[in-house]
Amino acid sequence: MVTCYIGIGSNLGERRFNLQMAIKELKKMFATRVTGISSLIETAPVGGPAGQGMYLNGVVEIETEMSPYQLLKELQRIESFLGRVRTVQDAPRVIDLDILLYGDYCINEEALCIPHPRMFERDFVLVPLKEIAPRVLEKLLKERPVEIKKVKTPVKIRKKAKKKEKKQRPQLKKRGKKK
Ligand code: AMP
Repeated sequence: MVTCYIGIGSNLGERRFNLQMAIKELKKMFATRVTGISSLIETAPVGGPAGQGMYLNGVVEIETEMSPYQLLKELQRIESFLGRVRTVQDAPRVIDLDILLYGDYCINEEALCIPHPRMFERDFVLVPLKEIAPRVLEKLLKERPVEIKKVKTPVKIRKKAKKKEKKQRPQLKKRGKKK
């Protein structure tokens, strides 16, 4: 079994429903278990035709016995099943399924590039990935500091939120003692 992370996205039609259907199909895949599902976040489209709608994005963790190419084929089958029609690059889509990580594998071919070549510059991948697999993101940050440094919002926002929580904790304790 290999642990993999699948990026899921939709900016056409009933986006939430499309993503729910995709997850349902991921659960049905041969020799595979879905072991984690992130929250869904709304993000602006990157590239593609002007005027297209906002994306809903998330990340799903799976364990699979499929090979990377078998998995890619399955994801493409699910995309077609859910009504994705390929037109121009970065066009609006009912569903987009990408292999972000396949264990520690590195594959560098046009048909399949793992880790996904653009995942390190995409907030909408890194934020949900951090939510369901913080240690995986930590490892990536150590291995690829230059690539991931370019990402401004997700990691920093989360760090600030954690610091705020820490600052508030002692005050709460003091109040408790007075009572
Ligand atoms: P997209 O338009 O983002 O769905 O891109 C699909 C194309 O990217 C297909 O031709 C795939 O063969 C190729 N591709 C390369 N690497 C990956 C990957 N890690 N996950 C999904 N598709 C990939």
